[in-house]
Order: sequence, then C-alpha cells, then structure tokens
Amino acid sequence: MQFTDLGLSAELLRAIGEQGYTTPTPVQQQAIPHILAGRDLEALAQTGTGKTAAFVLPILQRLTNPVAGQTGSPLQKITHTAPRVLVLVPTRELAAQVLESVRVYGAHTGLRSLAVFGGVGINPQIQTMRRGIDILVATPGRLLDHLGQRTVDLSKVQTLVLDEADRMFDMGFIRDIRRIIEKLPKVRQNLMFSATFAAEVRELAHAVLRDPAMVEVARRNAPAELVTHTVIKVDQDQKRDLLLHLFAAHGWHQVLVFCRTKHGSDALARKLEQAGIRTAALHGNKSQNARTRALADFKSGKLAALVATDIAARGLDIDSLPRVVNFELPNVPEDYIHRIGRTGRAGASGEALSLVSGEAVACRESWLQQSERAHQELESQQ
Ligand code: AMP
Repeated sequence: MQFTDLGLSAELLRAIGEQGYTTPTPVQQQAIPHILAGRDLEALAQTGTGKTAAFVLPILQRLTNPVAGQTGSPLQKITHTAPRVLVLVPTRELAAQVLESVRVYGAHTGLRSLAVFGGVGINPQIQTMRRGIDILVATPGRLLDHLGQRTVDLSKVQTLVLDEADRMFDMGFIRDIRRIIEKLPKVRQNLMFSATFAAEVRELAHAVLRDPAMVEVARRNAPAELVTHTVIKVDQDQKRDLLLHLFAAHGWHQVLVFCRTKHGSDALARKLEQAGIRTAALHGNKSQNARTRALADFKSGKLAALVATDIAARGLDIDSLPRVVNFELPNVPEDYIHRIGRTGRAGASGEALSLVSGEAVACRESWLQQSERAHQELESQQ
C-alpha cells in the first residue's frame, strides 16, 4: 500500500513526499481510514511505529476537506478562533514533537497550530491563541491553567486525541484529563493511543470512546523486533568505568543512557563530561530551554551522550538512534519497553545494553515473570 491509496489530499501527499515517505506504516494503514470515516479509535501502538502521523494526517485532511455532516472548511478557518482539534499528551517534549509533526504534515494546508505546556511563559501562548488556531496540542496541567484563566475556548473541539494514554496514568494526569473532557462538546470524535492496555487505560477507553475501531500493531509489551538486547553483569561501583571503557573502545556516539534518578543522571553526566565525552542530562529539574537545547544538540550529533530519566525521555523522537544503555534497570517492565523504543525505529536496527548488578538480576527476573503473567491474563480475557 502507498500513501496515495489512502485518499489523502494533494497538499498532504506533497508534505509526506517532502519527508521522503512513500509507504504508510502498519498503524497508519490501519488507523487512517477509520479516522477519515469519522470513527472513534482505540490504538495500541508504541512510539516509533509512526503513530503520530497516523492521527495527524487524517485530522488535517478532515479539517481541510470537510465531509458531509462535518463543519469546518478552509474558508471557515479564517474566522475560527477556537481550536477544532485537541491533542492531549503527557510531556512537554511530546507536545513539541506532535506540534512539529502537525506543522510538517500541515505545511501546505494553511492550518494554524499551537502547543501549550508548562515550564515556559504563558503569555505568548495566550497571544497566539487569541489570533486563532485550528489544532491545539497540550499537556493537561498547562491546559487547565488556560481554562482557569479563560484563555482557551474548548467549545469548538470536534476531535480529541489522547496520546500515550498509559503514560498519562503513570504520571497521575487522569483527574486532569477528566476535568478537561468535561469542557468539550459531547458530540465529538475521540482517538486514543496507548503503548499498553493496562486495566485503567481500558476503563478510560470505555468511558470516553463510542463504538471505537480497534487497531493493534505490536504484540503487547513486545519490544521493537530489530533491537538486540545485551545484559552485562557488573558491580554497581564499576558501572561508570565500564561505560567509559565502552565509549572509548567503540567510539560510541548518540547514546541514550538511562538512570533511575535525577541526581544519578547529573552525577553520571558529569563523569562522562570529565572523561571528554560531550554529554547532557535530561530530567524534570532542567528548565524547558535547557531540555530543548540538550535534545537539539543530541539530535544534531553535537553531544555523544544524553543521560535521561524515564519521564524526561518519554516519547523522544530521535531518528535511528543506534544505542540505548540502561545504566540502571527501570522499576517497572513497561519502562524497559519504552526506553528501548527509542532505538531500532522504522526498520533501523538498534542495540539495547543493560548494566545489571547482582541485586537487579533478581528484580529483573521477578518482573519478567510478572509481565508474562499479565500477558497471559490479557490474552485469556480476549
Ligand atoms: P512516531 O511513532 O510517531 O513517534 O514516529 C516514529 C518515526 O517514524 C518518526 O521519526 C517519523 O518521522 C517516522 N515515520 C512516520 N511515518 C513514517 C513512514 N510512513 N515511513 C517512514 N518513517 C515514518
């Protein structure tokens, strides 16, 4: 199947072509027709599957080429001030990335978009909103601030997207999301994307989605297939030296290193810097500007290493990242999947390396069993 088979407009096909894409990924092939048809959707798709374009493309199409029964047209857009599409995401980085996709794919549509998230001033967001926007991408906290100040009008929202719904729960956003949903028109299209279908995600899906189409592109909790997994057993106090050795011996570049804590990330980043490896730490205590800069420098190859916590790294979109290192294993199995979802993307191969000390081996075994059990339970419920 080609993008031209999906019934997308010439403006969108042009933007897709400019990105060099010809073939839609599986989630795009499956989701786009349902979304174009106006259906609600529940999609199980991890970061790296092309899920963002799977909702952004049909949304742009529906805004610019209205079908029967749907309001909104390129002409109306000039008078519209309130957003017609709301995309809720768990993190600032993901908000910025979704906005980037909206702008890239919507480059020839004339549609206006904005991302609102915390950590940056609210006033520029208010001013842009006043000028009128079609698509609003938001993290829940900052959107509630705007609602509180009455600087956003959600009464015209036709389509709601909940992206990385599982992560919204992990980060405690569920009450915020419910409060936001109360402000939306009752009749609307709802699209929910999640990397896992944990029980609470199903519950939310049940409450929000009407007769959804279901799309599933990866086996539950299955890591990307082209990633090789290696575990090195090493004492905790020797991990830093081992990591430095690996950088030196293999001339590594663009390595995403995961630590469990902000403090640990800072300490490791300092150690790598001291050894002459260009490094930045990415975690929740960093200012938005510092995070954006670190990510840009990492993407452009200026930094050889980025040391991140799970929350900060969530949803990072870095093309063909060759290697992810778990300096420490995550606390929950799902985070392992999310972490290594950053490598082996869109057909490229990748390597996931875990430095594991004795204690953690036992812990890892226990969660392998747990996740296998959870798996079997889910399968048996079907
Ligand atoms: P996502 O799952 O949305 O985070 O996308 C993962 C990566 O795949 C991004 O870097 C996209 O630019 C890229 N991508 C999206 N759609 C396609 C496609 N049809 N062909 C190749 N790459 C794609």
